[in-house]
Amino acid sequence: MLPRTPLFPHVIELNHQARRRIGCSVYLIYDESEWTLLDIGYEDAVDECVELIRELDFPFSKCKTLIASHADVDHIQGLAKAKQMLKTTVTAHPTAADMLEKGDRLATFAQIDAQGIDLDMPPVTVENRVNDGDVIKVGKLELEVWHTPGHTDGQLSFRMGDLLFSGDNLFRDGCVGAIDAHHGSSIADFIKSLERIKASDVKWLLPSHGPVFKKDNALIDKTIARLDGYLHMADFGTCAIDWPLMDAWEDELLEGKLPA
Ligand SMILES: [Zn+2]
Repeated sequence: MLPRTPLFPHVIELNHQARRRIGCSVYLIYDESEWTLLDIGYEDAVDECVELIRELDFPFSKCKTLIASHADVDHIQGLAKAKQMLKTTVTAHPTAADMLEKGDRLATFAQIDAQGIDLDMPPVTVENRVNDGDVIKVGKLELEVWHTPGHTDGQLSFRMGDLLFSGDNLFRDGCVGAIDAHHGSSIADFIKSLERIKASDVKWLLPSHGPVFKKDNALIDKTIARLDGYLHMADFGTCAIDWPLMDAWEDELLEGKLPA
C-alpha cells in the first residue's frame, strides 16, 4: 500500500500524489471508505489512475460516482473506460451530459480539423444530472454543486467547506479556460462566475489544471478586467458584444476622414 498524501483532509489529487504530471487534475474526494473522482483525464491515463487508486487502498466497490467538471475531452475522454473498470455511475451537468452521451467530438474539442486534432470520444451514459444547488454526498461529506458557465455552458464547480473545486474558471497565473464560441463559451457568463467565486467565502481554489492556490480577490479582479476588455474587442469574435472601433469608423466614414 502506498502512503496517501492528501492536499487537504479528505482530498487527494492524483498528479500530486504521483508527484508527476499525468494530465488534468484528478481529485479523489473520500470519507471513510466511500470516495468519488472529479474528472479522469484522457483515456490513456485511466490505467495509471486506477492503479494508483488501488495502491492507495480505496476499494473499487466504494466508488460512489465519477464526476465530470465539464465535457472537454482532456477531462472526460477516459470516463467510459474508468466507469467500466470501477463499475459505478457518472455525474455531470445536463448540458455536459448530452455531449457525453452522444460522444460529441466537436463540442468536446476531440475534433479540431483546422489543427489536425482528431481524438476518440467514447460515449458514456450519465446516470446523475446535477445542477446548481444540488448536493453530492460522499460518506458524510457534502459537495455543493455550483453551475459556473463561461468556459463552457456545462461547467460545474463544487464547494466543500472552504474549498472550491473550481474547474476551468481560473488558474493560479490568472489564466482562464479557453474561450471559444464553438463550445459554448460566454464571456459575460464567465465574468458572472468569477464574480460569484470572488464574492464567496471559500479560501482555496482547486482548479482542474495546475496547482491549487489561495483565493486572491486581486487576481480575480485582474482576470475579470481582462475578460471585460474582451467583451469589447475583436479578439474572440462573436463572443464579444461590441467593437467600439467600428462605431468610430462609421463616424469617420461619414466625415470623409482621410488617414492622418
Ligand atoms: Zn480544461
